[in-house]
Amino acid sequence: MRAVDIILKKRDRQELTQAEIEYFVQGFVQGDIPDYQVSAWAMAVMLNGMTARETTFLTLAMAASGETLTLTDVVPFAVDKHSTGGVGDKTSLVVAPLVSACGLPVGKMSGRGLGFSGGTLDKLESIPGYRCDLTTEEFLHQLRETGIVLTGQSADLAPADGKLYALRDVTGTVQSIPLIASSIMSKKLASGAQAIVLDVKVGYGAFMQTLEEARALATLMVDIARLSNRQAVALISDMNHPLGYTIGNSLEICEAIETLQGQGPHDFREHCLEIAAHMLKLGNLSPDLSTAREQAAAALSDGTGWARFRALVMAQEGDVSYVDSPQKFPSAPIIETIAAPCDGYLAGIHARLVGETAVALGAGRAKKGDPIDHTVGIVLHHKVGENLEKGVPLFTIHASSKTSLNEACQTLLAAHTWRDHPVPPLPLFYETIE
Ligand code: URA
Repeated sequence: MRAVDIILKKRDRQELTQAEIEYFVQGFVQGDIPDYQVSAWAMAVMLNGMTARETTFLTLAMAASGETLTLTDVVPFAVDKHSTGGVGDKTSLVVAPLVSACGLPVGKMSGRGLGFSGGTLDKLESIPGYRCDLTTEEFLHQLRETGIVLTGQSADLAPADGKLYALRDVTGTVQSIPLIASSIMSKKLASGAQAIVLDVKVGYGAFMQTLEEARALATLMVDIARLSNRQAVALISDMNHPLGYTIGNSLEICEAIETLQGQGPHDFREHCLEIAAHMLKLGNLSPDLSTAREQAAAALSDGTGWARFRALVMAQEGDVSYVDSPQKFPSAPIIETIAAPCDGYLAGIHARLVGETAVALGAGRAKKGDPIDHTVGIVLHHKVGENLEKGVPLFTIHASSKTSLNEACQTLLAAHTWRDHPVPPLPLFYETIE
């Protein structure tokens, strides 16, 4: 076999065989197929697509490129969740403790923020001491003993994806549905959960801009799971405006704590309960979705979810006194609230602009490895559909300098759009794909 023939075949819109895909992935990981050939192939996939069979073979080959965990040796049944990335998306911080509190172990390997979308690990690292670098042995031990783990992906998990993602990032080939599906699912399969709830975001602050694209991605990922003998359900959720009110690392930890303590924003709480309910149902802890939702809601109101979060922080060596007294989290040096510039109905809060503003403030990174500032970020005060009077607080910026504050203020004002007639609130979810 020759790599060039595989590229030509994909260029000419033919279906690749399992053997060809395995040859290509292995050759890339072992360094026998150079980056320029893989880039040409990725562009051919980006332009010509892949069949569901090809995408499944690609996913399996990438999952098999490194270590694969078998969690059934450790717990009877493990569920995982994955979000395709968004702005203000702190769902794992609440959902994992709720599901674990209901008796279903959650061992989750999360990612860092990249570009305008935030990452769970960056948020957790706002808690002094919290370790996101557990070894595989530590991961399995904690899952068995504590029933909850939120850590980083081990270096040897689906290494083909890490290499391919780095190339896609610089060759204009990120926005390909088969490449995104295989990237996400290879990591999920390698990390060993038997059931996965996929939170596929759609809207301005998501990879997928239209419902049609989100549906195609969700369907493909659910199909891959089924062909790999895993259970999966995909929820297509709104990411036109940010989830909850906070964007920025320690600000989001504080909002997750409030939610686990029974308060928190309505949209975020509802979003978490829905995802948790699907996890509990997939894990056979509940006979149906409405019972599952009641169980998750009970774990919020009786404090057991909050207790699981504390147990998680302690197990991963975080200083629990910070989550017990969130006022201990250091604040940004400048905190300023901006007022609504006019009367009217809030018609949009452009999630991508808000995410990019948070990155510009220092909460995220422009490229892998950049340092981040855990203290900075944005607190929104309203949701789309609300009728506001000129002068009420619109958003609060937590900034490290006057210059970044002023820039953020201009972009955030532009991110808010207004109408003089009523605007319906945005839905939380659009569709479920089982
Ligand atoms: N998240 C991933 O893990 N991979 C992608 O390609 C896109 C989002």
